[in-house]
Amino acid sequence: MESITISRLQQEHPIIGRITMLDEVFWVNPKLEHFEKGNSNSKLTKADIVDAENRLIRFAPYFVKAFPETAKLNGIIESPLVEIDSMKHYLERTYEQELLGNLLLKCDSHLPISGSIKARGGIYEVLKHAEHLALENNLLTLDSDYSILEDEAFQKFFSKFSIAVGSTGNLGLSIGIISAKLGFNVTVHMSADAKEWKKELLRSKGVSVIEYKEDYSKAVEEGRKQAERDPNCYFIDDENSKDLFLGYAVAASRLKSQLDEKRIRVDEDHPLFVYLPCGVGGGPGGVAFGLKQLFKDNVHCFFAEPTHSPCMLLGLVTGLHDRVSVQDFGIDNRTAADGLAVGRPSGFVGKTIEPFLSGSYTISDSQMYKMLSALIDEELIRLEPSALAGMIGPVNLLKEGSTYLQNMGLKDKMKNATHIVWATGGSMVPQEEMNRFYNKGRELTLEN
Ligand SMILES: *Cc1c(COP(=O)(O)O)cnc(C)c1O
Repeated sequence: MESITISRLQQEHPIIGRITMLDEVFWVNPKLEHFEKGNSNSKLTKADIVDAENRLIRFAPYFVKAFPETAKLNGIIESPLVEIDSMKHYLERTYEQELLGNLLLKCDSHLPISGSIKARGGIYEVLKHAEHLALENNLLTLDSDYSILEDEAFQKFFSKFSIAVGSTGNLGLSIGIISAKLGFNVTVHMSADAKEWKKELLRSKGVSVIEYKEDYSKAVEEGRKQAERDPNCYFIDDENSKDLFLGYAVAASRLKSQLDEKRIRVDEDHPLFVYLPCGVGGGPGGVAFGLKQLFKDNVHCFFAEPTHSPCMLLGLVTGLHDRVSVQDFGIDNRTAADGLAVGRPSGFVGKTIEPFLSGSYTISDSQMYKMLSALIDEELIRLEPSALAGMIGPVNLLKEGSTYLQNMGLKDKMKNATHIVWATGGSMVPQEEMNRFYNKGRELTLEN
């Protein structure tokens, strides 16, 4: 992007100056619409999410057999929703801000199979593709018992096809593990920031891992090229995929059941706030879209990004979406939050989510580390750095979002609020690495 355009954008949107200074910012989305109005223009619908939900139900018998750890929930890949009162008190003490309402953690960090939010969208898209191939070749009908997919005949069949994906790590883990299990030839194109243990784990499962010195965008580009050369290769396009998005969106109805079980109300007098770490946008976008379909104007979704990788925020603020990257603004896209180390947002997600999103904020790596250690101390819950980006959300909202709360008529309702921090990954991080994260967080906490 030309520098003249950049300086014009900075003049039009003063917040960009603070974003480029790497300040932590809190932004309210001026394009948020009333649900019905925003939804009337949406290309994706609630019916699309229900279709995805039903597909996952069809596959449940396969999961019970292929991944016995999913048997507890009858082959449904879902994570716990837990109250974190002790962490709430830590946040109140540390940030000197009373947090009105309940604070809960949605532990996608502990999703079976790949231990991150990518076990939703990533796995779903591979299943959809596998189902399509099997149906097309008359190996399956919609009312078959899908546990037959574990049979050798299917493995042999899927081995004629390949799957490719570009990733900063976690998407590669999800796609790699499920694809290899089904029998596909799968190649994961990994960006420089992807962790060594993720590559090793994938190779141990027979996945081809190709490494790049460049960032996520390069890994995606190379994956796309590989797929273009091979007609039997299916490319999972993290930047543009509706299937990934819908796989994530299924989280909403599952969350609603969990809230019902806990007798937590969400209605006009009981607002729900959800804080979602954002990389390219598919995960948080899909979840937010699903939540809006169910809770409409009573749910308020905020994205969280590292100060060094605020790609979605820049895309939304400027309205230019994937036509801008953080590098255009001189931001380096270097962060310890590897799941969020994305320089250019998904244009598809940005445009889809624009009328539904309440706002977005940025957070420094050191804050993520400090909260990582605190969450272990307070709740014994271990997350990877990316997954802590949401944790500061309630503090930010109550400290800086008073205009938003006022405009939405929420000022007097906050004591009835529920805040859900979406913990997007961490349970597969090797213990040694987790210890390093923890120590780093402790050091940073003691420094000031
Ligand atoms: C991928 C990822 C995200 C964000 O999802 P996007 O679809 O890239 O926006 C957040 N946290 C973790 C741990 C992730 O792996």
